[in-house]
Amino acid sequence: MTITTEILAMIKKYERIIIHRHQRPDPDAIGSQCGLAEILRANFPEKEIYQVGGPVEGLDYLATMDEISDDLYTGALVIVTDTANAPRISDKRYELGAKLIKIDHHPNDDPYGDLLWVNPKASSCSEIIADFAFAEKLTVTENAARLLYGGIVGDTGRFLYPATTSHTLQVAAKLLEYGFDAAKLNRQIDQISLEVAKLSGYLYQNLQIDGNGAGYVILDQTILKKYGIKDSDTAALVPLPGTIETVLAWAVFVEQPEGYYRVRLRSKGPVINELAKRYHGGGHPLASGANAKDQAMCQEIYHEIQALCADYQEK
Ligand code: AMP
Repeated sequence: MTITTEILAMIKKYERIIIHRHQRPDPDAIGSQCGLAEILRANFPEKEIYQVGGPVEGLDYLATMDEISDDLYTGALVIVTDTANAPRISDKRYELGAKLIKIDHHPNDDPYGDLLWVNPKASSCSEIIADFAFAEKLTVTENAARLLYGGIVGDTGRFLYPATTSHTLQVAAKLLEYGFDAAKLNRQIDQISLEVAKLSGYLYQNLQIDGNGAGYVILDQTILKKYGIKDSDTAALVPLPGTIETVLAWAVFVEQPEGYYRVRLRSKGPVINELAKRYHGGGHPLASGANAKDQAMCQEIYHEIQALCADYQEK
C-alpha cells in the first residue's frame, strides 16, 4: 500500500477530521492545511472537517480558521501539515484526537504522530497535498487549487528557490487548470504595506556584510515601533538581503515584545539548519528559524554564519 492510500484509508475511517498547522503561519502552512480541508469537504461531504490554529496573521485572503470546542476532539482524526516539531503545532489540542497524522516537507527531526508522510524533497507541504489529491484521484475544487498554489508560490519565493523542481512546476501547472485568478493571488502574496516598504529601506541601509557574504541586520523594538511594524509583517523583509549579489547567507534578528530575538536565517549555499537547531530552532537546509535571548547571542549566531560562509567560500 502506498502512503497516499494508507492516509486515505485512515481518513475514510473517521467521521470528524481536524486539521492543524504551525504557529506564525505562512502561505504554505495555511495553503496545505486549508487546501487539504477543502479537498476533504468536497470528497466526503458527510464528514465534519475543521481547520484550526488561531489567527492567520494577515493571510485571511487565503482562509480563516474554525473555532471549535474541546469535546469535538473525542474520537476525531487529527492531521497536522507543514510542521516539523510538535512544540510548533498551533493549538495544543492536537493531542486530544484518537489518531494523529503528520504530513510535512521539513527534515523529520521530530517524528510525531501515528502515521507520517514526510518528504523533504518537496518544495512545500502544499505540493505534497496536491500529490496526495492527484495520486488518489480526489476532486480538487477551484479554491483548494488556489490554496495549494498559494502555498507553493509562498515557499518557493515564486519558483525562485532551489527546492523548486520540475515536479513542482508540473504540480503548479496542473493546479492552474482549475481556473482561479493566479495573478491576483500572486499580487496578494507579494503585496507589502507602505510601512514595510519603508522598513526595507532601513534594512538595506543597515545590513552588515562581511567579506565572505555573511550578512545580518537587527530589527529591535525601537525600530519596529518607529516604522509601525509588528513581527508578523517582517516576513516580506527576510528574503531581501539575498537580492544583493555579495550576500551568501544571512540573519534577520527581530526583537519580540518579551525581549528575546526571533532569528530568521536564509542561505544561498551554506547549510544553516544545523546552526538553527543549536539555538532552539530548525528548518530547511537553506531557510531556518531560531531564537536568541539577547543581542550577545545574536552576535554569537552571526559569528557562526560568518564561519559557515568562510568555509563555503574555501570549497
Ligand atoms: P521563518 O524564518 O520563520 O520563515 O522560518 C523559516 C523556516 O524555519 C521554516 O521552514 C520554519 O518551519 C523553520 N523554523 C522557524 N522557526 C523555527 C523554530 N523555532 N523551530 C523549528 N523550526 C523553525
